[in-house]
Amino acid sequence: MMRRGGLILFLALVAAVPLFPAFYLTMGSYIGLYSMAALGLVLLTGVAGLTSFGQAAFMGLGAYTTAVLTTKLACSPWLTLLIALALTLAVACLLGAITLRMGGHYLPLATISWGISLYFLFGTIPALGGSSGITDIKPLNLFGLELRGEGFYYYLIWAVCLASLWVTGNLLDSREGRAIRALKGGVSMPEAFGAGGLRLKNIVFVYSALLACLAGWLYAHMQRFVNPSPFGLNQGIEFLFMITIGGSFSVWGAIIGATVITLLKTVLQGILPTLISHTGNYEIIVFGVIIVAVLQCMRGGIWELIERFLPPKADKPIGQASELPARVQPPRGAPLLRVEEVRKEFGGLVAVKNVSFQVAAGEIVGLIGPNGAGKSTMFNLISGELPRTSGAVLLAGEAISGLKPAQIARRGLSRTFQHVKLMPGMSVLENVMLGAYLRTDDGVFAAGLRLNRASDARVAAEAAHQLRRVGLADSIYAQAGNLSLGQQRIVEIARALCADPLLLLLDEPAAGLRFQEKQELAKLLNELRDQGLSVLIVEHDMEFLMNLVDRIVVMEFGQKLAEGLPQEIRANPEVLEAYLGGI
Ligand code: ADP
Ligand code: MG
Repeated sequence: MMRRGGLILFLALVAAVPLFPAFYLTMGSYIGLYSMAALGLVLLTGVAGLTSFGQAAFMGLGAYTTAVLTTKLACSPWLTLLIALALTLAVACLLGAITLRMGGHYLPLATISWGISLYFLFGTIPALGGSSGITDIKPLNLFGLELRGEGFYYYLIWAVCLASLWVTGNLLDSREGRAIRALKGGVSMPEAFGAGGLRLKNIVFVYSALLACLAGWLYAHMQRFVNPSPFGLNQGIEFLFMITIGGSFSVWGAIIGATVITLLKTVLQGILPTLISHTGNYEIIVFGVIIVAVLQCMRGGIWELIERFLPPKADKPIGQASELPARVQPPRGAPLLRVEEVRKEFGGLVAVKNVSFQVAAGEIVGLIGPNGAGKSTMFNLISGELPRTSGAVLLAGEAISGLKPAQIARRGLSRTFQHVKLMPGMSVLENVMLGAYLRTDDGVFAAGLRLNRASDARVAAEAAHQLRRVGLADSIYAQAGNLSLGQQRIVEIARALCADPLLLLLDEPAAGLRFQEKQELAKLLNELRDQGLSVLIVEHDMEFLMNLVDRIVVMEFGQKLAEGLPQEIRANPEVLEAYLGGI
């Protein structure tokens, strides 16, 4: 109720601004424009973890495209809107294809360089008016009527801004949105569930650029004049300030940040030069100090502070929904996974030396060995995380070696991670829903316009079913980060089950668990096997496996040392020698 009240108050404030003196109307319009560009950055930088300094350049692309085409070629502004969006789409796809593969600090550096390049391009091409820019841009028109009033632009900008906010919020609460939110922890987790990391990054990048372009187009027709200075690197940095101060994890952070920075800048630009008795952009120093304070004290910005005073969001009830389509599971005992002479060399080191083994349907097989034996490498060769040097891996008769993790996930392999990879700020249910990424196919458009309700309800029902299956029915709405490590590992298993796998791959699921948690995990895996699930467990805790698995494969120094029933392995002197150091 309080959240809804806050929203109504906010909308009333937006609607009432034109009643105040003209100065506030102009400020309000700028805040709306900057909010849109910042909203793109929230998604790109705050949510997906891709830092970009080049957001203002895309705003410039939108502004300059319409400025040139409406003044030089007398195009209709509505047509130039489409052209500007198409051009931004093309440029963003191209830049994204070149730069999004880069990890670490290379991406921010690349965004700085394209931000600067586009800025200089605007300033040096004679047709773009050089540093003095382009004047006499036509106002927007509707049915031959020119729309000049400042109030009109204010309301138009805010209508577009609020619509963008709604679409972005919807997108984040969808199949693609959950995968985008998972990107922050690296691409390996979303890819394990079939969501290609590079594709997601490109989607976010293009979406964010389009929002900036839209803001730029509105800006040009509101101002009716453009020059390069508002689209430079400084503005790109200011957008980053906005989301950091406002809150980079929430769409509301964009609006709060844009409001605070724009108002503060105006106030400081008035006060500081008089205080210091020198003219200059001293407000940047104040922003810098505030940023450091915000990063130190509240990473989630002002929105995080506000959220503390708001009641928690109501849990979305899980309704009745038809079941998602499921795979046909192979009959118990049928060959499921075949690892044939697989070899992996890291330079001169042979981590896996021509190892072969099989897993049949309905069986739990343990892959054990001392530290450094090559178990994790073997696991990554099966899941596609590492390319093999030679050999073959077949799942249900189909070769999967050479395929990417997302393609292997599509063929029915599902996994958990040795170091738990959950999204700690999201609910347990949402985390598990990500597992069903490949079982529905709603795209970005459907999600943005909320046309995905029915299939999302089916995914939620499936996730809730898997959580009940693993015994976590009471924690559906808990924040994943608040659960114990043992429970988090079980959430990972539920997420993997949500993908409806043929084979479940578990990497050291008992690592770090207390004795009782281990026993509960073993009980759960036993139950799942009874329900027909096939599992390959990589583990070095032999005791944990002994009463659980059907067969054991032992590795040492990259080779297969032994294979057999648990009691055979336990009695095998070679294994004891390798494992217990000859005790
Ligand atoms: P385990 O999981 O059984 O403890 P690993 O598969 O992690 O063993 O490692 C097997 C061997 O391969 C070790 O000697 C390890 O140092 C080496 N190794 C693993 N990953 C890499 C890598 N990415 N580059 C180079 N060497 C690696
Ligand atoms: Mg390992």
